[in-house]
Amino acid sequence: MAVDTFTATQFEAVLPRHKETGEPLWQIQSQSGPQDRELVYQIPVQGSVRIIIRSSINRQTGISADAGEDSIRVYVVDAMSKPVFGKFQAYITRAKGWDVRLLAMLKRNYKLAMMVGAQCPNCKPGRVVVRISRSEANPNRPFMTCSGSPDQLACGFFQWLEEPVLAAKGQGKGGKK
Ligand SMILES: [Zn+2]
Repeated sequence: MAVDTFTATQFEAVLPRHKETGEPLWQIQSQSGPQDRELVYQIPVQGSVRIIIRSSINRQTGISADAGEDSIRVYVVDAMSKPVFGKFQAYITRAKGWDVRLLAMLKRNYKLAMMVGAQCPNCKPGRVVVRISRSEANPNRPFMTCSGSPDQLACGFFQWLEEPVLAAKGQGKGGKK
């Protein structure tokens, strides 16, 4: 599959900006050493939660990598740079239309990242964790549960955060729950 080649400037033009001020909502993540071959961006969301975007743009040349290293990766991390949705990691290929897909993916991750650590709607002092289902019935579908608080055990609260992804074509209406 053919992949688009783009410069850091072209990539950054796609990343979100503040609606009124036009200021970039992203920063280049400072890095040194062996990660030189990839420009990494971050978008702060709330608290220490942020979205990381690995662009596949070489820091030295400022141009995206050749096919073979063709994906842009997006994931959400906490202050310790630990992914907060478990092993969920989303990527998009650099085939045509990557800019539209990247924005959609950033919006999705932003929405989920906003929920991380929120007050549990059921027991209040408890805190919410966000995870991604990998079950056969609900693949790649995010949900939140209660993780309790220092003073209180988890209350068992559970809620899906997105509509179900339609299962493979052909299953149609009345598919398995
Ligand atoms: Zn709770």
